[in-house]
Amino acid sequence: MPLPDWQRFHLDDGVLREPSPDRQRIIVWLPRRAENGVRCWERVCNVPGAAIAGDGVVCSTAATTIQAQERGGGIFGKLLQSFRKAPDAITWVLPTGGTTEQVGARQTDALLAWSEPGEGPLSDEQLAARWPQATRRQRLGSNLFLVTGVTATQSAEAPAETPSTSVATSASLGATPQGAMAQGAMAQGALLAQPNPRQQAEQLLAAARQAGDREREAAALADLGVACQRTGDSRAALPHLEAALQAAQEVNDQTLISDIQGNLGLVLAALGDPARGLQFLQEGLATARDSDNHFQVKSALDNLGQAYGAMRNHAGALIAFDEALTLASNLGDRPHEAEMLWCLAIQHAELGQRDYALTRGQEAIHAFEQLRSPHVPMLTEHLQKYAAGDGDARLPPSGVAAAANPATPTSGPGLLRMAFTAVKSMAKFVGSGLKTVAPAVREERLQTCGACEHHTGVRCKLCGCFTAVKSWLPHEHCPIGRWGE
Ligand code: SF4
Repeated sequence: MPLPDWQRFHLDDGVLREPSPDRQRIIVWLPRRAENGVRCWERVCNVPGAAIAGDGVVCSTAATTIQAQERGGGIFGKLLQSFRKAPDAITWVLPTGGTTEQVGARQTDALLAWSEPGEGPLSDEQLAARWPQATRRQRLGSNLFLVTGVTATQSAEAPAETPSTSVATSASLGATPQGAMAQGAMAQGALLAQPNPRQQAEQLLAAARQAGDREREAAALADLGVACQRTGDSRAALPHLEAALQAAQEVNDQTLISDIQGNLGLVLAALGDPARGLQFLQEGLATARDSDNHFQVKSALDNLGQAYGAMRNHAGALIAFDEALTLASNLGDRPHEAEMLWCLAIQHAELGQRDYALTRGQEAIHAFEQLRSPHVPMLTEHLQKYAAGDGDARLPPSGVAAAANPATPTSGPGLLRMAFTAVKSMAKFVGSGLKTVAPAVREERLQTCGACEHHTGVRCKLCGCFTAVKSWLPHEHCPIGRWGE
């Protein structure tokens, strides 16, 4: 993939561009908070010759950052500089003419990110979905971001879709012999070589249109919309889901209509129209109830609960998650049951009901343990911190609302939300630490799904998961027991 024309990125006020004769390079200076009267800066530049990674929406390349401080600043400032200066500190001239000196070591766990040609400017929501492990996402200009806490290797990994209602789990919590690791690497390599769900949906859509098959077109449009939505691209998702709804209504596919209504609701809420979003979510639930499809009702309740939670209607979210939990339990959908228990813990914590939150949290961890989920240690740690800390702390909500406020929750219900976000996000990325099944096992699972009446060609209609991704994960299950332990 070619380098972009760095000159075309307009930088935000206060971000300075360092002139560079090399068009392959972009170097910018970010103002930092002054320390003891000394002005501080951060110098960010791309790594010359580094590859450009792209997933069809987001492009990125490796970058480095260096902290620096301006020379001068009085006697105290000079004294401080002499103490903090790195032994091999470099001196630069700022684009404004001032002189700066390096402070501390060069950081290499950084990326510059922008959107693919033809895509709109990147949003913070997209970046959060793409790099959930990032420690910082900072806008540098229109459609140009600095992401830290991420390496270029991680940037090159293709994003995959997370299962919608089930948590990715791993069989390999215990021993990790070299053979298993090699097998995992092979499996991940095979996964990287395959089209992602968005590409799969696009291929199916083209085939359906060519065949004039409106029913298949509706399903492919829905899959495409959901694939966009789950990579954080709500704006791209909206027209696909609207077209999918029209097509599904024409062919009167009630299950699909309910599915699309729920996802449309989430997309509209993410795009800042919670009233319409809620209306679609409620319609999706009503459609599912009318068609007596318990799996669909369960998914619709989960969606509704997530939206209520983001809108701080925690009592409403509790009711929705509680009914979804009952249905998941009755239907034997254990991964969804574990998720709903944790979601209930979050809502109780939001309402200041600490004891209920701890009880539900423990139940969730027990359920995840039974699934041999690799997330158990992380969930346990967050619940312990919640138990030990200020259980009444109020922090910005997760999901839709969190996109507008990237603050990192460090106490109270925010701890539980953060853990849940991590669980959902980890499954999005190959190489995020999750192990995979052997290719032959995965192939068998895919064949089962491929022959199943509940498969759209991309997603499972019963759980909403992208089977190309779900089938790799050791402890994922078919919701009706056709594969998985
Ligand atoms: S086999 Fe199971 S997981 Fe696959 S599509 Fe059918 S119901 Fe879904």
